[in-house]
Amino acid sequence: MTNQTRIGKTDLYVNPIGLGTNAVGGHNLFPNLDEEAGRELVRTGLSNGINFLDTAFIYGPKRSEEIVGEVLKESGNRSKIVIATKAAHKIVDGEVQLDNTPAFLKESVDEALQRLQTDYIDLFYIHFPDKDTPKDEAVGALKQLKDEGKIRAIGVSNFSIEQLKEANKDGYVDVYQGEYNLLSRDAEKELFPYVTEHQISFVPFFPLASGLLTGKYDKNTNLSEKRGKFFQKELFEQTLEKVEQIRKIANHKGAEVAHIVLAWYLTHDAIDVIIPGAKHADQVLNNLKTLQVHLTNEEVKEISRIFQS
Ligand code: NAP
Repeated sequence: MTNQTRIGKTDLYVNPIGLGTNAVGGHNLFPNLDEEAGRELVRTGLSNGINFLDTAFIYGPKRSEEIVGEVLKESGNRSKIVIATKAAHKIVDGEVQLDNTPAFLKESVDEALQRLQTDYIDLFYIHFPDKDTPKDEAVGALKQLKDEGKIRAIGVSNFSIEQLKEANKDGYVDVYQGEYNLLSRDAEKELFPYVTEHQISFVPFFPLASGLLTGKYDKNTNLSEKRGKFFQKELFEQTLEKVEQIRKIANHKGAEVAHIVLAWYLTHDAIDVIIPGAKHADQVLNNLKTLQVHLTNEEVKEISRIFQS
């Protein structure tokens, strides 16, 4: 079995390569998603050593949690699998709103438990900050749920550094999830030093920049077929050049670009585990090969330098 990494100060131990499941039943995020492919990729992950799954209410909505719950149940292995989910969104008259009130978070946990077909959630995040709820009050509600045994660890996501500090006034925050990848490195300035000082584990989302950092695209890619901010022409073309430099490092090590990129995140003190997403089972298996890559200090610096400009 792969070495299990402790997530920050929690009692959760996981394979450092987890799985993001926003494309598992996340019909509102990706067009034409095949649910069976989603089920299959979660099964593939679980039977090949992945034991950390990241989902959320808003992926679907609800559908990702439901599918993860089905596969979790059929695995018969609940106690070995670490489930993270998130809430904050609510749909009112067809409109999405954010809510961090204690009452809403408590109700959200109860509903997520049903969709996941389990009686505890290992890591529960406030997915996005709302405007009004004091963040320490919101986290205080999660602390009560932790004391009741409904959740095992507390996370916040997409909070500013000020919101994180307010949320962590009593030291209850275990995990911060935020965007971080070789193309978006703002978190290095204030979030990384804060989380490291407070033993909060940083879980980066978009680690592969939606696939752009896997090295599978080239200048002939038809960008009009691609969705998302990483496929804007200028950024896309600049990134291709940098990816080619990463490919040289990958070739030299007998690895692929995606493995080098993912391994680089795991060299950061602030990061214990990563959650690359996938649409197909073969991508899940491929990303697991990251565990075979060891980057030297020189390579870590070189990769950072390539993406600095
Ligand atoms: P990502 O990990 O940067 O990219 C995942 C995508 O890259 C896959 O869906 C797949 O898309 C492609 N891919 C993955 N592995 C590959 C491989 N080995 N070879 C080729 N292509 C590969 O982006 P993400 O999935 O959006 O983010 C990761 C996770 O973070 C999500 O699943 C979700 O759980 C979480 N997340 C959280 C937030 C938040 O607000 N907290 C926001 C976003 C995401 P294609 O097949 O289409 O290329």
